[in-house]
Amino acid sequence: MLDAKADLWRDKRRNEIIEWDKNNKWQDFIDDGKIWSILRERKKPEASEVIEIIEKARSNTTQGTMLSPDEVAVLINTEDPELWDRIYETADWIKQTVYGNRIVLFAPLYLSNTCVNNCAYCGFRQANKELERKALNHNEVEAEVNALVNVGHKRLIAVYGEHPDSDAEYICKTVKKIYTTRMGFGEIRRCNINAAPMFNEEYRNIKQIGIGTYQIFQETYHHDTYRQVHPAGTLKESYLWRLFGLHRAMEVGIDDVGLGVLFGLYDWRFELIGLLQHAKALENEFGVGPHTISYPRLVYAENAPLATRSKYLVSDDDFIKIVAIIRLMCPYTGSILTAREAYPIRRRAIKQGGVSQMDAGTRVGVGGYAEMEKEHLPHKEQFYVKDSQSLDDFIYHLCEDGYLPSFCTAGYREGRTGENFMPLAKHATVKNLCIANGILTFKEYVLDYASDKVKKIGENKTIPLFLDWIQTHVPAIYPHVREYLKREENNTRDLHF
Ligand code: SF4
Repeated sequence: MLDAKADLWRDKRRNEIIEWDKNNKWQDFIDDGKIWSILRERKKPEASEVIEIIEKARSNTTQGTMLSPDEVAVLINTEDPELWDRIYETADWIKQTVYGNRIVLFAPLYLSNTCVNNCAYCGFRQANKELERKALNHNEVEAEVNALVNVGHKRLIAVYGEHPDSDAEYICKTVKKIYTTRMGFGEIRRCNINAAPMFNEEYRNIKQIGIGTYQIFQETYHHDTYRQVHPAGTLKESYLWRLFGLHRAMEVGIDDVGLGVLFGLYDWRFELIGLLQHAKALENEFGVGPHTISYPRLVYAENAPLATRSKYLVSDDDFIKIVAIIRLMCPYTGSILTAREAYPIRRRAIKQGGVSQMDAGTRVGVGGYAEMEKEHLPHKEQFYVKDSQSLDDFIYHLCEDGYLPSFCTAGYREGRTGENFMPLAKHATVKNLCIANGILTFKEYVLDYASDKVKKIGENKTIPLFLDWIQTHVPAIYPHVREYLKREENNTRDLHF
């Protein structure tokens, strides 16, 4: 049960959303019937057609274009395992070509689990009476940030439920607190946001505090399913309010936005075309597509029966296909795979799906980092995390596999966002900066936080490997990277390109 204050807030906001719906100026770009007919028409594609589309995805990588819905439908309908091997190789190639062999690391920070909504798949749903409800106060935010920066994190996704206790004003206050909390060399340099859709004025206020990417996941693009899992009378009932949430954000100048689907609510084939249509709609309207795409898969959540009962749950093999197709269809977009997935799947998806960003050392219970030794806080969590290994262990595995762990946050602080970022990503030149900044931030980690095993592999293998890469591919900045590394050894921090 909501208290009277939350009840009033929800009803007022709901009326405002209904009003927005009536005056909405944008046309729904998701046509369910059309998506299914595209998928049906491209059933059983010829091998030659699949190969042609794989080649097109490669050439799109340096031209900054996406595949078409028909082309994505061909990939979706591919059955031949050898062709899938070519798709996986291409996903890896695209990732290497755009971003280089680095993985950007972040942590999700759950600021609140108070929510006025009742989504059928979520542990934060209002009907979950078992949950201890909480919106962190300033001291608690500080404790969480200290716990995160003390292990080496530099970038966060701050996650908020939809509730008067975690409204736009609360978001502004907590993000300011996150940025101003420092401990030794520890600090958060980029704070992305995952929160409910807002009104333009609210977005304006949030933009002013210097956020990174603003994420809104549509959850499902299928209209009927959307209605079924987001009950009427809640703030999430309006499909279009959510669909155009990122349009409104971009309208007021938030130019890095992130899309996402909760795979498992509806047929994954349909959802992939929905994601593509959304990316194209943003690009058509603003000339800038999504900065990131996320693809969480439905996992167990306390008192959310749909989480295990859905008939659309996605198998591991299909999940890897989803990740790889996203890489081919939007080559310039950051691809985020979270610790909802177990480590073996994460490892496979990096290689076969071209993942570029991952969380590590993750806790999703509100206040969970201050209670780090407990892997799960079921009475405070939205869902269960399957990869709960420490940040340091995760980094060690990345180094063993030949990747560069990166804490780079230079892009948005150097103004490489929106239309300034896109040409670099679309023409596959952003990796030159990504690798250089990746080396510098990984070196900071090695100096300040790493275990002996990570220090050893970092100094002896990872840093030399990527310095060689810089020397070969971007010789002009090689001396500067070396000089910056020296300065880091002499206790200067936050050097970047
Ligand atoms: S998915 Fe979001 S809006 Fe829905 S119940 Fe969970 S926290 Fe609330």
